[in-house]
Amino acid sequence: MNIILFGPPGAGKGTQADNIVKFFNLHRVSTGDLLRDEVQNNSDLGSKIKSLMDKGSFAPDDIINDLIVKILSNSEFYNRLVFDGYPRNLNQAKKLNLLLEKYNQKISYVLSLKVDKKIAVKRILGRQTCTKCKLIFNKYFNPPTKKNHICDPKFLDKRSDDNEKTIINRFEHYLDKTLPILDFYKDLDLLHQINGMGEISVIFEQIRSILTSLET
Ligand SMILES: [Zn+2]
Repeated sequence: MNIILFGPPGAGKGTQADNIVKFFNLHRVSTGDLLRDEVQNNSDLGSKIKSLMDKGSFAPDDIINDLIVKILSNSEFYNRLVFDGYPRNLNQAKKLNLLLEKYNQKISYVLSLKVDKKIAVKRILGRQTCTKCKLIFNKYFNPPTKKNHICDPKFLDKRSDDNEKTIINRFEHYLDKTLPILDFYKDLDLLHQINGMGEISVIFEQIRSILTSLET
């Protein structure tokens, strides 16, 4: 099965993508990673991408499509993809459908994690990483205590680039951009809304039950 995963900042999309990949033995496709890999490989496409990045521009849809074709044509990944952070617009979504058809595949599920803006903000603002043991905590939802963390609290680090206003902007920008894409998949009867508000394991349980419902 091929899956697309959507979720605003603070919805825990990255964590759930990891869970899905591990549990169902799938391959994660992030266009950001694909772009970086291409630049590192020093390919012709890579140098084109690099010059765009250096100018601070986004990669145009045709470059993204080329990268997606590479994945879809790779038999190793056949029918076991989790698209994360892609498609980003309606054109990419429509193009993806055409490409999937060309490579004899389809999207099985589109999952959209839903989370309240307030909770998303708290999740991001409260995030604390231990620079020593790399464990991740949350000031509001999963605070470090003597029981769950042995290092000195001085090692706890907060992501410095996140302030409330920036997070709210990113959140609202996501909703604006993504709504038309979600409607597109809703019309195709592929969209599943996931309540992204609870514990990570509870959220994954919802996802797992949806993904296994048609597995048979
Ligand atoms: Zn630690």
